[in-house]
Amino acid sequence: MKSLVIVGGAGRMGQALGEGLGALDQFSLLALVDEHEPRELFGASYASSLDDLDPQKVDVVIDFSSPEGVVSSANWCGEHGVALVIGTTGLSKEQRRVVEEAATRTGVVMAANFSIGAVLSERFAGMAAPYFERVEIVELHHDRKVDAPSGTSIATAWTIANARKSSGLAPLSDPTTRPTFEGARGADVVDGVRVHSVRLPGLVAHQEILFGSAGEGLTIRHDSFDRQSFVHGVALAALAIDATPQLLDGIASLIP
Ligand code: NAD
Repeated sequence: MKSLVIVGGAGRMGQALGEGLGALDQFSLLALVDEHEPRELFGASYASSLDDLDPQKVDVVIDFSSPEGVVSSANWCGEHGVALVIGTTGLSKEQRRVVEEAATRTGVVMAANFSIGAVLSERFAGMAAPYFERVEIVELHHDRKVDAPSGTSIATAWTIANARKSSGLAPLSDPTTRPTFEGARGADVVDGVRVHSVRLPGLVAHQEILFGSAGEGLTIRHDSFDRQSFVHGVALAALAIDATPQLLDGIASLIP
């Protein structure tokens, strides 16, 4: 049985993971770490910092907090040789470098999306990309998400761009030469693959990948209706990772 700590345990994801992972036989939930006291503890204890915990008792730290929180978690896990699973998105290059450094001292899994359906939809998008002339991504999230575009859409854009490149397709050019308003065509994330971000109350995490060619279209849509959709993927990552130094980027390899 692996002993888990959730950093960001009072947050929306932290609470969903506490409920979901705490119910699985493979794990025991040791502590929820957060700047704020969590509403529910799911049988774990509360700590305001990882420094309040005995690293010997922790197998895996799961971080769904903030980019600053990830830096602290990565430093603590690297220093003590504790495995780390990161779901937090919106990291700067410098913050990512701290994670990469920690992964030279312990095992780290970092994924922009832990839902199985989202991982599969990205895989399907990579399969479709060489066969269509154009593609655009629309990502839709709840209105308290602070980063945009979503980490998932950035990863999907890269998968599509790499698949196009491998097939000898040129980067996409934008047909719009006269935008009436700045930003109307979304963000050019990589090689002309554009992402449009929608933020609305009531949404959780949704993404549409729209492909178009002469006379046909293909839409790949994924919906996370509930934050429990991320539990399965986080559990796979927590089971797969240990303190052997490595950086696993995404959970695709855990879903054969
Ligand atoms: P949230 O704001 O509800 O929760 C974040 C929690 O982290 C808060 O309780 C906050 O107090 C705590 N926190 C922030 N900085 C901290 C620090 N330095 N130390 C300790 N605690 C700290 O946000 P959320 O909706 O739960 O999302 C959290 C993160 O997870 C976001 O980056 C989001 O994009 C990401 N996310 C990833 C996935 C995925 O599959 N990878 C899925 C959903 C959300």
